[in-house]
Amino acid sequence: MDLSISRRAARTVQSEIRVMSIECEKVNGINLAQGVCDTEVPAAVREGAKRAIDGGINSYTRSDGLAQIRQAIAEKMRRFNGIECDPETEVIVSAGSTGSFYTACLALLNPGDEVILFEPYYGYHLNTMVATEAAPLYVTLRAPDWSFRPEDLERVVSPRTRGIMVNSPANPSGKIFTRQELEWIAAFAQKHDLFVFTDEIYEYFVYEGRHISPATLPGMWERTITISGYSKTFSITGWRIGYSIAPPKWSAAMSYFNDLVYVCAPAPLQIGVAEGILKLPESFYQQIGRDYIKKRDLLCGTLKEIGLSPSVPNGAYYVLTDASILPGKTSKEKSMFLLRETGVASVAGSAFYHGSGGENLLRFCFAKTDKELAEACRRLGQLTDKMNPRKMLSQAR
Ligand code: PLP
Repeated sequence: MDLSISRRAARTVQSEIRVMSIECEKVNGINLAQGVCDTEVPAAVREGAKRAIDGGINSYTRSDGLAQIRQAIAEKMRRFNGIECDPETEVIVSAGSTGSFYTACLALLNPGDEVILFEPYYGYHLNTMVATEAAPLYVTLRAPDWSFRPEDLERVVSPRTRGIMVNSPANPSGKIFTRQELEWIAAFAQKHDLFVFTDEIYEYFVYEGRHISPATLPGMWERTITISGYSKTFSITGWRIGYSIAPPKWSAAMSYFNDLVYVCAPAPLQIGVAEGILKLPESFYQQIGRDYIKKRDLLCGTLKEIGLSPSVPNGAYYVLTDASILPGKTSKEKSMFLLRETGVASVAGSAFYHGSGGENLLRFCFAKTDKELAEACRRLGQLTDKMNPRKMLSQAR
């Protein structure tokens, strides 16, 4: 018998972002490829988790999480998102928002069900669909403002379509979907009877415009799975605390898969996050926007200076740039050139498109400490010297 990996595993490729992080480590470079938020974790969150460990909160919890965090999230949803939800039946705490989307796909989609995905997309959204045997349908957003028209949705939909994925603020484009765009999506989802999966992990990283949760639009609560988490907001990407909000008819099945795949989110860390939600003032969240807009402007300013025209993001913490001026036939070659010449790692735009749409693009992440970002910008600033025609010619050979 010839043993082999499953067809599912063969279809799922390693994330290009991880690949670039490994390349970056090899040259001891600055990693603007991965969205690792290495800013400080708020004291209330750290203290809460430590107290929970010392106080014996170390066992399995209910699969949808401890009451304390479900109640804190329900209150936050009411206050910040304008969504009334029942913490007993409509909040599921999961192993990151990654876990939320995975369990939503397992619970709500059958193999072959189609889900519309806007591109440029976040690779985990695509790969989660592929791994769970859903079929992605692509709608390409138009640069530089990443717009789309209702006709673009009608063009791809079929009788097998069951859902549409919305990520706002978006990774990697930084797009914030406007109320009008969300209304188009809402009307479309109701017309074709679709689930709306909405990943709102960057909801506090907003620089221009306003964050609107699709579930608040008329008629949308029944069909919307709202996904978010605290990896980014509290800088705790390794804690794995995320959540889904959904009506009981969907959340019960999602909670079951939460239990089956990983039983529950880490118990003491649920308490740390609950305490953070309860104790941190409004000003903490407003400060995120103020801090990150400075980081955005520093990076975008540098990219502009060196001729890598950035599409300045309205939210999240990534910038897509047009990298046509860099040598290389593909975006991967361009990102490797940049890493070699400046020691700064970016992600090839091809990682965010199913076709060739991303071959002239690079993505940079600005969720870095001010010191590290300043050093990355200093290094990027030297690119112009290194790009003199003779040097570029030798690179191309
Ligand atoms: N969703 C988006 C759009 C992301 O960019 C990321 C991380 O980069 C995640 C989800 C992962 O979130 P979590 O750590 O909650 O699984």
